[in-house]
Amino acid sequence: MRFRDSIKTAAVSALAVSILISGCGRKADSGNVSVLPESESVTDVSSVFPVSVSESIPDIVSETVSEDAEETASAVVVPEEQEETPEPEPAAEPVYSAEDLIVLQDEGMYTYDECAFDVHVLASAYADLMTLDSLGTTADGRELYHMVIGRPDADLQVFINAGTHAREYITSQLVMKQAAVYLQHIREDAVYGDFSYRDMWNRCAVHVVPMVNPDGISISQSGLAGIQNEDILNGIYNIAAMDGAELTSAYLDRWKANAAGTDINRNFDAYWEWYSSGPSHPSSDHYKGEYPGSSPEAAALITLTNNSHFSRTISYHSQGRLIYWNFENIDAIYDTAVAFASEISAATGYPLESNYSTVDPAGYSDWGIYRCQIPSLTVEVGSGTCPYIQDQFGQIWAENINVWEITVLSALRY
Ligand SMILES: [Zn+2]
Repeated sequence: MRFRDSIKTAAVSALAVSILISGCGRKADSGNVSVLPESESVTDVSSVFPVSVSESIPDIVSETVSEDAEETASAVVVPEEQEETPEPEPAAEPVYSAEDLIVLQDEGMYTYDECAFDVHVLASAYADLMTLDSLGTTADGRELYHMVIGRPDADLQVFINAGTHAREYITSQLVMKQAAVYLQHIREDAVYGDFSYRDMWNRCAVHVVPMVNPDGISISQSGLAGIQNEDILNGIYNIAAMDGAELTSAYLDRWKANAAGTDINRNFDAYWEWYSSGPSHPSSDHYKGEYPGSSPEAAALITLTNNSHFSRTISYHSQGRLIYWNFENIDAIYDTAVAFASEISAATGYPLESNYSTVDPAGYSDWGIYRCQIPSLTVEVGSGTCPYIQDQFGQIWAENINVWEITVLSALRY
């Protein structure tokens, strides 16, 4: 794989992740949580998550670790003439740095394994500035990674998510690069306007789920080879049959749902019952699911949001280069929502789309406004046909380079 070369040193302990299970923003709980020193884990995640974060390190890392470990072992030479066996030199502290991040080196297609590698690199390189956990495991055995960048007991919390629609995986790459650069700015004590990044970190925690739909993304990127579980593979055949589609690469490339054929962003309780223009069966696209929150991925976002106190959310999608910000029941937060949306619009150059009535409902942002009263944006990046917009990554990055800062400052200011 192309990122092998970038891995200079590795050991499993290098990926020890500071895991925070804080109740996701319930202040009474999070007040007891302090910033964790590197390599110290707080709790046994196996009691909470089906698969612990440490077990979920992608194979490529484990393989590399094994190879390096063998090299290290074979390099230990005991001098023959020495009577006492000398104590072996302690292994050098393995360190991942931001230089190891794939997302900062390569603008090509960004996979789940690469994202999984990068979230662990971030957790290692910036262990004092962030925490990493998993909101759960998908049907095909992938983790729903969740990072918190900010002081755990910060008064304010905002939420950024991406990669909900499978073929829109360029948004996961965008959000991971945003996370990497934001962390770098904090570490360097950089400033943004009148605010220091350190101050932003102290006062507002940024929650990030960079890849909400890793199974679907694997289908869109790798076709049937992207599925690991045989039952799920058979399910894909059935979904294609119900869709009346051939299992061509064109059909699988354009996959939008999760691996069970539920469109995660039609699976939230925001006019869900009224949404009827999608198929009534599991599909590659637009099936709203059996009930709101029936997909594990939507359920994970609902739980996270209910247990947190987000004051802003951004859901990245592609494509269209515009911003949805409006929904039913927005009156109480209208002024804040308009101001926030306008700032993001000014920064990105994407116009605001106020008319939600002609757009499919039951998305995360719709639910965030309708049920949770949180100013919530759906930001659509890129133009053309997904997923065939990879060469636009540079432009998408340039347009969204300051979105995190604006979101945090919006939460801080009003
Ligand atoms: Zn989308």
